[in-house]
Amino acid sequence: MIGLYLKKPGELELRELPTVTSLRDHEVKIKLIYGGICGSDVGVYKGKLGHAKYPLVPGHELVGEIIEVGGNAPFNVGTRVVVTPNTFCGECENCLTGRRNICKNKESLGVNITGVFSEEITISSKFVLPIPEELPSERAVLIEPFAVIVHAFQKINVSKDTSVAVIGCGTEGMLSIALAQYLGAQVTAIDINEKKLEKVGKEFVGVKTALPEDVPEAAFNIVIEAAGVRSSAEQTIKIAKPGGSIVYIGLAPEATFSVMQIVRNEITLKGSIIYNFPDDFEKCVEYLSDEAFNIKPVVSNVFALQDYEKAYSDALSGQYGKILIDFREA
Ligand SMILES: [Zn+2]
Ligand SMILES: [Zn+2]
Repeated sequence: MIGLYLKKPGELELRELPTVTSLRDHEVKIKLIYGGICGSDVGVYKGKLGHAKYPLVPGHELVGEIIEVGGNAPFNVGTRVVVTPNTFCGECENCLTGRRNICKNKESLGVNITGVFSEEITISSKFVLPIPEELPSERAVLIEPFAVIVHAFQKINVSKDTSVAVIGCGTEGMLSIALAQYLGAQVTAIDINEKKLEKVGKEFVGVKTALPEDVPEAAFNIVIEAAGVRSSAEQTIKIAKPGGSIVYIGLAPEATFSVMQIVRNEITLKGSIIYNFPDDFEKCVEYLSDEAFNIKPVVSNVFALQDYEKAYSDALSGQYGKILIDFREA
């Protein structure tokens, strides 16, 4: 079978990869339908993720179909599935208290263990979730990145007419906008890229858009930081209303806040990292199965596996939303 292979940062190629011939009891083999390129894949490609290990098959977002099952795997051939690409041990202190997302023994597919951008993958069935027939693969491939948002939203209270600011209109920002609007909130999208704002304004009817310098201060019940840069992280405190909450999804390396402002305005700060599997994934399936859940602006383009160079260069440019790779014609 063929797949992508990242020899070292910046050196990506399509090559023949070894096929797993005998599955272990608990494993399944999945033939890929779509893969999604994520911000962390871009980081791995550029050599900017400290815990990445090379050489490596990159990628961690996928929807696929089971083509082979081990003796004890509780799935049938032909079932469409998604996987959690962040493994968990189930035994450490964090796992045992329901925080599998911060498992001490976590490994990440496509970062420090073999990823998924290949015609087929073999994985333990405990990391696999079947998806309903009515959920199209084009939507299902977004379950993993969307689970990050569903997880973050559990830490804040977004309901009808809550004023929500989303900083950053990349994939995670767009999915935040989509969910906040779906829940009835008054949403303002903030980005430095006017093209992205234009797209958001056009596709999410009713969502306001603003450049960072035009955002009013003390205006929002909830602020979601999905840009992961210092200036955005610092702006959160200024634009939250007194009594408001901020949730940080972006990995801004550092930022400076006025603690006095946080205290005086009684602002709540929350950090949120990935998701709990399968709970957050199941919630995503529910949302995405509703056709009224608008994700139209999230996916920018779909490329065949052979066109991986173009797919990666679009993803690297930072000018687009989610880029998908179609593995069916591989
Ligand atoms: Zn991802
Ligand atoms: Zn654990």
